[in-house]
Amino acid sequence: MPEFAARVIAWQKVHGRHDLPWQKTCDPYRVWLSEVMLQQTQVATVRAYFTRFVARFPDVNRLAAASQDEVLGLWSGLGYYSRARNLHLCAQTIVSEYHGEFPRQANLLQTLPGIGRSTAAAIASLCFAERVAILDANAKRVVARVLGFDADLALASNERALWDAATGLLPDPNVARTSMVGYTQGMMDLGAMVCLPKKPLCGACPVQRQCGAVAAGDPQRYPVRSRKLKRSSQSLWLLWLRRSDGAVWLRKRPPSGVWAGLYCMPMFDSEQLVRDALPTQFQKSLLIEPVFRHVLTHKDLHLHPCVVDLHDESHTSGEGRWVTAAQWPDLGLPAPIRRLLSVPGGV
Ligand code: SF4
Repeated sequence: MPEFAARVIAWQKVHGRHDLPWQKTCDPYRVWLSEVMLQQTQVATVRAYFTRFVARFPDVNRLAAASQDEVLGLWSGLGYYSRARNLHLCAQTIVSEYHGEFPRQANLLQTLPGIGRSTAAAIASLCFAERVAILDANAKRVVARVLGFDADLALASNERALWDAATGLLPDPNVARTSMVGYTQGMMDLGAMVCLPKKPLCGACPVQRQCGAVAAGDPQRYPVRSRKLKRSSQSLWLLWLRRSDGAVWLRKRPPSGVWAGLYCMPMFDSEQLVRDALPTQFQKSLLIEPVFRHVLTHKDLHLHPCVVDLHDESHTSGEGRWVTAAQWPDLGLPAPIRRLLSVPGGV
């Protein structure tokens, strides 16, 4: 499909996005940060987080030198915290193994913590003009539809074939040095603005006449993936100890599992276990608030807040510390805990 890349590049120039805070640079640190933040989050939300993040950590050395609590605190409310933990680890690896300079090739970038094949390609093509294809969710949709690629992407072999097909659509090697930024950005913009998951705006698409999915009559059928994510659910009881000055008792979560490394009220698997953890004099004042649901990638959490307003302020609940309202915004708190505490920025 020879003119595909040229059409995408020409369309991006006129109709694409040009004012995102991470676009006016080819600094790999900023491009990497934006790519990681955008992996599971909308552009509108990422803008504010990105700006705050680069203000606090303007380069990879400053990020590497920060504590994990500081990084998670700044990430707080953005969700999918493994991204933040990997970001921190990746910065430390770049400083210790690459003298603070990002590798320039996608195949090297891909070996770093938290950088997958598509993110590596985005950094290498946008910052170093390497001729490599991205295949994030947006680009995957565009490529599968344009080519009418209807093989089941639940199979790794089909996923590999789609990567090969995406590579086949790249700009000609003779012009790649000057055109990769426009092409990669164009694929991102096309997927985000025109080739939408539901109701793609084919009438406004620069590649409509070449599009296999349009020719087949049902663009929304692509990409094809048979295996859906298996979901589970879990109920958890949160012991919400409140002091009269508003401070709450929080405990740092272990380094793996749900909300690893974040601060949370002590969690239990049943109401009885909460009661067992409380001295008898507090049993009467235990108030079980209505359960609410929080959706994680693979599971639904049913959270039961169990509130105890303390008058005996010396009481604590095992490992943890009292945290005042003034300290909450700077702490890495899971989104539902931010919501319970009414900390701004909870999602
Ligand atoms: Fe997507 Fe429609 Fe463009 Fe095909 S023509 S790439 S389905 S927006």
